[in-house]
Parts: sequence; C-alpha cells; structure tokens
Amino acid sequence: MNMITNHPPTAELQAIDAAHHMHPFTAGAELAQKGARIIKSAKGLTLTDTEGHQILDAMAGLWCVNIGYGWDSIADVAARQMKELPYYNTFFQTSHVPVIALSQKLAEMAPGDLNHVFYASGGSDANDTNVRLVRHYWAAKGKPEKKVIISRENAYHGSTMAGASLGGMQPMHAQGGLPIADIVHIGQPNWYAEGGEMTPEEFGLARARELEAKIAELGEDKVAAFIAEPIQGAGGVIIPPATYWPEIQRICDAHEILLIADEVICGFGRTGKMFGSETYDIRPHIMTVAKGLSSGYAPIGASIVCDEVANTVAEAGDFNHGYTYSGHPVSCAVALENLRILEEEQMVENVASVTGPYLKEKWEQLADHPLIGEAQIQGFMASVAMTPDKAARAPFAADKGTVGLICRGHCFDNNLIMRHVGDRMIIAPPLLMTRADVDSLMDRAVKALDLTLAEIR
Ligand code: PLP
Repeated sequence: MNMITNHPPTAELQAIDAAHHMHPFTAGAELAQKGARIIKSAKGLTLTDTEGHQILDAMAGLWCVNIGYGWDSIADVAARQMKELPYYNTFFQTSHVPVIALSQKLAEMAPGDLNHVFYASGGSDANDTNVRLVRHYWAAKGKPEKKVIISRENAYHGSTMAGASLGGMQPMHAQGGLPIADIVHIGQPNWYAEGGEMTPEEFGLARARELEAKIAELGEDKVAAFIAEPIQGAGGVIIPPATYWPEIQRICDAHEILLIADEVICGFGRTGKMFGSETYDIRPHIMTVAKGLSSGYAPIGASIVCDEVANTVAEAGDFNHGYTYSGHPVSCAVALENLRILEEEQMVENVASVTGPYLKEKWEQLADHPLIGEAQIQGFMASVAMTPDKAARAPFAADKGTVGLICRGHCFDNNLIMRHVGDRMIIAPPLLMTRADVDSLMDRAVKALDLTLAEIR
C-alpha cells in the first residue's frame, strides 16, 4: 500500500500538501491557511474531490481535457506503449513508431503546408522552440539581424523565460527580470476594456495597425515574427473584433515577417473548427499546439511548421535544440488515441452545430444580468465581464475586493469550476457537453452571479 492507494483524510493531505508542494500561480500563505481542494477522480465533465463533492468542470482542467475525463482506451494505449517502449529519444537520427504516426497525423490535420512537427512537453517550451526556430530561420536566410518578435499585451504564451516574455502579463514580467531581449508588445484587441468611444470594428483595425506601426518603428529588417493567440485565453477570453485578424493577415503578407499562431487553447476543436486559425482564416507559418493535443492525458506540445521554414532549417545543418521528452512515445501514442476519439465522436461538430449554438444562445443571455457588461462566446470558450456600470463598461473599484474572486468562490460552493481573470468570468468546457450539461452549467453560473451581486451590493 502506498499513499496513493490508501491516502489519509482530507485535512491531513492538505497539511502535507501545504508543507511540501509549491503550487503554480498560488499564494503559499493562503494555501497554508485554507488548504487545497483535492481532486480524486473524474469522469466525463465531472470531478470528484476527497470529500465526495461532484464538481462540474467548466474549464476542462486548464483548458485541456477537450474529450472529457475517463476514456479507458487512452489508459489501455498508454499501458501498451509503456510495456513495449516506455521511452526512447528522437535525437541523433533516431525515431520510433508513435512519433512517426503522430507527425503524419498532425501534418494531415494542420491547414496549409504546415507539414513538419517539432515536439515539446507543453505549450511553454514549444514557444521557446519557436523563438529559437524563427531566429535560426532568418539567420539561415542570411538575415541574422531579423530577431525581434512582436507579441501583445495581456497575451499568455507560457511560463518559461521565453514563453513568459512573449506573454504580455505584467505580474509575470515583474518576477524574474522579464521580458528577455528582443521581444516587444503591442496593444491587445480588447474592445470592451480599451475601445473607448470607437466601434468594435474601428478598434479592431486600430489595434491591428499597431503591428504595422511597430514594424515600421523597428525596421522590417529587424523583425522576425509576430505571435498571437487566435482568441486570447488566459487574458480573459478576449474575442477580437471581426476586423482584427483580416488586417493582421494583410500586414503579415505585406511585410517579410513570420506569423505564429499560438493554438495551445484554440486548437483541436475549441473554437468550432479544428484550429482557431481556420475559424479566423489565419495563415500561420508556425502553429503552437499542446493541451487538446492529448486532452491532458499525457504531457505533450509541439510546433507545427510550414515547408519553407522547416526545409530552410533542415538544409542549414543541425538545429541545436531539443528536449529529452521531444516526441515521448507514450505521449505520442496517447495523443493519437485522443485525436481518434475527438474525430470519431464528432466533437468538433458538437461544438460547431449541435451543442455549441445552444450554449451560445444561453451564454449571450447573461448580458441581461444586472452584473454583466459583456458576454462573449466562440465555440466552447466564453467570457462575461462583470461591471458596476454597464453603459460605461466600467471596472469595479478596488474596495469591492476582486469581484471575480468572490464569484469564483460562489461557483466553487455550487460545485462549478469557472475561472476568473480580474472582473471577467470564463469557461472552456470539455467538447462533449450536451444540452442537459449546458442547462446545469448555466443554472450554477447564474446562481453564482446572483450571489456575487447580493454580496457586493
Ligand atoms: N500558450 C497558450 C495560449 C496557453 O494558454 C498556454 C497555457 O495555458 C501556454 C502557451 C503554455 O502551455 P503550458 O502550460 O503547456 O506550458
């Protein structure tokens, strides 16, 4: 018997956890005071904690469990692969069957000529690969001075040094001396918070044109790439105005820079097409993928790279870059089985045309709630902005505490996982939700909003 098969009661687990486990994005003192909620098992959309609470997971873990929890065939595939070949590397001219099969599958699925896959263990390190890859590409083309990568404020591209630098989150830059050199940021297409008197369409164009202005300021000969999430996820599910992406695409086409679409959240069905790039008609040179690639059943991320970049890099000799777990055989086998389930169960179709339209109808009705200034949704990712003044789209004053935190607490108490980003509440549920699941989610969400309103009045 070990502690996993025979664990102590919740309070004791919480004490051990607080004493020995350093949590990401968590205040240690708060953890020690309140203890973590300890999740024990999961099936479909539902988590069960050590106290027996049944919790509806409207965040699919961390936006990753696209196919939902509890698919036995994935466990079987993983066990088989662990027995046959638990590990081998892909360095120095070696390969193995799962990584070959997954690469072929991703090349088939990815749009355009994105035919080449470089593997990582998650989205952050895949974005680190992208930084080195695009700079190496331009050096191989005889333009080593093309090094700067343009990103956006309030973007999230991961937690590694390069990932967090590409991201535009001030609290992350404030810790650890970021951003690293040659990464700059332009404004985000967040009309609700920053659009002022402009229409969303005018604002979308204005924010896209900041890219052209930044390229002109730096000099096209210095800029390697622009990176963006099709929809900003961790920034609060910020759905850009319809004018934004066509203008960004025009600017990237007009200038000699690479376009990187960070599809770590948007990829594998979340926006109602297989990739967010397809939803917004974006033609990237590189896509970052992770999360839904394995639905979180095993850690894996990747950069899916176009012919021109991959072939140029291949001809330039060794790419001196790689991770011990690049193309891990168990993760690759799990990812392949996950993609089989995603396709066979027609989950992307469920988002686009079965449950998705019903969720959209219900979610958009939240805009009528007295606390809500905006309700945005695309596919199975959605947000609401809470406000004390709908007409002014005003944020809450600091003395109201973080209203998002209050609302998250009421969600938790009602066995619903919704996340908060400042005053925004967000969801990204598993893609197998039914209409009945939507009803259950909406009932709990409205109750949490009502209780939040009552508490802050
Ligand atoms: N890129 C985006 C758009 C993300 O949302 C995330 C994680 O949330 C990452 C990159 C980082 O991925 P990971 O946490 O797997 O390193």
